[in-house]
Amino acid sequence: MRIVIVGGGIIGAALADRLARGAGAAEVTLVERDRPGAGTSGASFAWLNANDPDDPAYHCLRVAALGAWRRLAGEFGDPAWFRIAGNTAWATADPAKELLADRVARLAALGYPAALITPDRLRELEPSLRPPAAGAVIAHYPGEGHVHGPDAVRALADRARSAGARLIGGTAATRLNLRGGRVTGVRLGTDDDLDADLTVCAAGRHSPALLATAGLGLPLVDAEAPGSPAPGLTAFTGPGPALLNGVVHSPGVDLRPVPGGGLALEAADLDDATDLATPAAALDRGAAELLDRARALIPALTAPVETVHRCVRPLPADGFPLVGPQFPGLYTAVTHSGITLGPHLADLIAADLRGGEPALAPYRPDRAAGAAAW
Ligand SMILES: Cc1cc2nc3c(=O)[nH]c(=O)nc-3n(C[C@H](O)[C@H](O)[C@H](O)COP(=O)(O)OP(=O)(O)OC[C@H]3O[C@@H](n4cnc5c(N)ncnc54)[C@H](O)[C@@H]3O)c2cc1C
Repeated sequence: MRIVIVGGGIIGAALADRLARGAGAAEVTLVERDRPGAGTSGASFAWLNANDPDDPAYHCLRVAALGAWRRLAGEFGDPAWFRIAGNTAWATADPAKELLADRVARLAALGYPAALITPDRLRELEPSLRPPAAGAVIAHYPGEGHVHGPDAVRALADRARSAGARLIGGTAATRLNLRGGRVTGVRLGTDDDLDADLTVCAAGRHSPALLATAGLGLPLVDAEAPGSPAPGLTAFTGPGPALLNGVVHSPGVDLRPVPGGGLALEAADLDDATDLATPAAALDRGAAELLDRARALIPALTAPVETVHRCVRPLPADGFPLVGPQFPGLYTAVTHSGITLGPHLADLIAADLRGGEPALAPYRPDRAAGAAAW
């Protein structure tokens, strides 16, 4: 079976890797208009978690995704780009304190590793942090972790290539080709046609533009709208001594380690203030603010910010993954929390292509319309 995957982010790279290997491997071509990891996946905060108890089925999907990451990373040895080193979070004011304690109780009731801890325990886990104010509610999730998106995507794309997948980089798929009522592949920016038995749209936030070339839509939040929640802000500091073990969510800034000793930084309020019209100078001011907050939390942090990203979420309108056949010859795989979900979705999609995967039933792209897709 010839499969063309459009988009070399975590979703496309994990899927190319999965489909190119093992018994019944497909003839896979991955088309990426830039280089693997150049999109959202390469600039994401990339916290691996199932830290959302609101929808038990989705929570279970995410728990399974953490297991898939452990297995996948194990196949790469002990890669520096993957760590299950836990996540600590704390709140110092009401109602955030009650909300955090409630979240821990609900996650623990679901059997998820989550507990409230003392300031002394936080100091043992993350000795570089300035202690939170007295009276803080502190949570610890030992089963959570992080990946470094650019390295993980590259590793997956490279392994897919070693298994025989073809990578076409630096060339966009400019349209889906239609013949006889089905998608038959893509037209490339070079004007060449790439034929396929199945085309997978894994173009992240750019998926609606690609699908529109065949008259199809996808219910994603409009990233272009002023104040859209899709765009966010992340910043990465340069290398230095390792200052954190795991992911940290403090009231003013979220942080995670980067291989080589850097830190990835984000903050909810600065994320909310970022949209596609935010000028570059304002992004730089946001990054400087992130660094100030990080330094207030970690006195030993001296490294400057090295890169600043306007990082845009492919954000389904209802928040849940959009994964499944969308038209004859066409399969769509677009999701938020794609870093957490990518490898598990790749396994589920492989099963889906063999004959239908019930775990994906709630996440079909046509669920809003309630119609059967193929
Ligand atoms: C600020 C922020 C923080 C986040 N934090 C987390 C987190 O902590 N944990 C988590 O799990 N998730 C997080 N996410 C979400 C996660 O990063 C995304 O869901 C995930 O990266 C999406 O991966 P993707 O492969 O679908 O998209 P992308 O990584 O964007 O990949 C799509 C690729 O397709 C290519 N492309 C697009 N159009 C074409 C075309 N026509 N032809 C060829 N190539 C094309 C692009 O160049 C791109 O490389 C965060 C997102 C943001 C913005």
